Amino acid sequence: MSASLTLTARQRAELARHLLPEDGCEAVAILLCGMARGGNPLRLLVRQVHLIPHEACDRRPDAVTWPTELIVPWLEVADKLGLAVVKIHGHRGYDRFSQTDDESDRLLFPSLYAWVDRAPVHASAILMDDGRLFGRVVSEDGQFQPLQAVHVIGDDIERFDGGGGAAAVPEHGRRIAQTFGGGTFERLRRLKVGVVGCSGTGSPVIEQLARNCIGSLVLVDPDHVEDKNLNRIANTTRDDAEQGRLKVDVAARAIAAMGLGTTVQTLASTLFDPVVVRELASCDVLFGCMDTIDGRHLLNKLATFYLIPYFDLGVKIEADGMGGVNQVCGSVHYLQPGGSSLLSRHVYSLEQVRAAGMMRTDPQQYQRLLDEGYLRGVQEDRPAVVQLNTLIASLAVNEFLARLHPYRLDPNAEHSVTRISLSHGIFEHEADGQPCPVLSRHAGRGDVEPLLDWPELSGGA
Ligand SMILES: [Zn+2]
Repeated sequence: MSASLTLTARQRAELARHLLPEDGCEAVAILLCGMARGGNPLRLLVRQVHLIPHEACDRRPDAVTWPTELIVPWLEVADKLGLAVVKIHGHRGYDRFSQTDDESDRLLFPSLYAWVDRAPVHASAILMDDGRLFGRVVSEDGQFQPLQAVHVIGDDIERFDGGGGAAAVPEHGRRIAQTFGGGTFERLRRLKVGVVGCSGTGSPVIEQLARNCIGSLVLVDPDHVEDKNLNRIANTTRDDAEQGRLKVDVAARAIAAMGLGTTVQTLASTLFDPVVVRELASCDVLFGCMDTIDGRHLLNKLATFYLIPYFDLGVKIEADGMGGVNQVCGSVHYLQPGGSSLLSRHVYSLEQVRAAGMMRTDPQQYQRLLDEGYLRGVQEDRPAVVQLNTLIASLAVNEFLARLHPYRLDPNAEHSVTRISLSHGIFEHEADGQPCPVLSRHAGRGDVEPLLDWPELSGGA
C-alpha cells in the first residue's frame, strides 16, 4: 500500500529544534498519526509529537540508539486510539537512509507491529536541516517502500515528492512554468484539489484551477442548473437549465473540453454525506465555495481533522431589491490545520451553525423557533453577480498560488484573510490569530466514528 505523510509547519519547527541540535549528533522522535484511509495513497496525519529526550539516548553524528521501553507508553496510546507510528530522526546534508538506519528500522519495526496492530502501516522518516522530509513505510517483515510524498502545511503549502522525475512541461503549460518555474508546475499537476460548491464562486474557481493544470479535481454540489443560475455560473447554457443538468456535470464537461489533462471526480451530493467526506479527506487542498454556515463550519472541521489547507470564499451584497446598493464586499480566508478558524475569526457563531443545521434537517422546528423569536433567521437567496464572484474567485486562486509558490514581499503569514469592499474602497489583509480553541484540538485525528464527530455522518463505512 502506498502512503504519504502530512504534518503542520508548527510540528516541523518543534521537530527541527529537537532532531537537529547544536551538537550535531542525531536525535529521534515518535509521531502518532491519524489516517485518511479512503484514498490512495493512505494519508498519515501527524496527531501527536513525542520527543525522546537527548539524555536518554546514545547519540553519535551518524546514529542514535535508545532503550525501546521508553516509547512503550506512547505505543499503548497509539494502540488504544488506532494511530499509526512514525519514527523520525534528523540528517544534515545526507538525503537518504543510511545502512545504520536500515539495520535499526529492521530491528525496531517488528515490535512496533506487535504493540500496535490496529494501524495498517508504520513508517520511518527523516527531517533534513534544510526543512525537507522524506520517509518510507517499513513493513512487518522489514521491507521498505518510499512514502509517495511528505506534505507540510503552514503559512506555505509545501510538498516533498518521494520519487519519480518531473515530466516535460507541455506547450499549454509553458506560460505557467515561465511564471512560477517548472517545479511549481509539476506540483500543480500532482495536486488533488476538492471544490465544494460549483455555483457562483465555485465555477470560476474550478475554471482557473483547471487552466492552471491541476492534476485532479473533486467537485461537490447536489444541485441542478436552473434559469436563475445562468447569469453567473461559468460554462452553463440555456440547454443545461432546460435539461436540468447537474452543476458538477456541467463543470466536468467544460474541463474535459479544455483538454489539459485534469481528471475530474464528480459528487452530486452535499457535504453532509460520508462518501463526500471520505473523498475530500484524500485531497491535498480544499476550496469552500458555499454560502451555508453549517457547510463552511463542517468543511473547516474536515480540513482540521485531515490536516488539509482550506480556502474559504465569501461574498456579500446588501441591496434593497429596488436598485439601492448599500454594500458590495467579499473575503478569502486561508485556514491552516491547528490555526485559527472561521469560528474563532467570528465569521459566524456556533448559534448560527446550529440554526443553519436545523433549517436543513428540521425545517418545521426551525420555522417554529424562528416565529417564537428563539432564533436569528438564516438568510436565503441573496443577491449575487458574476463580476463580484469572479473577483473573489480570482483572489482565492491567487492566494492558493502564493501559498504554493511564495511570491509576495510580505510573508504569507500576514495574509490569512483578504477583504475587499467595492462599495467602501477597501482592499486589506490580516494575519492569522490564535489557534481556535474549538477546532484546533482535533488536528490530525483523521478517520473517526462518526466521521468528524458529526452524528449525521455516522455509519456509511
Ligand atoms: Zn540516519
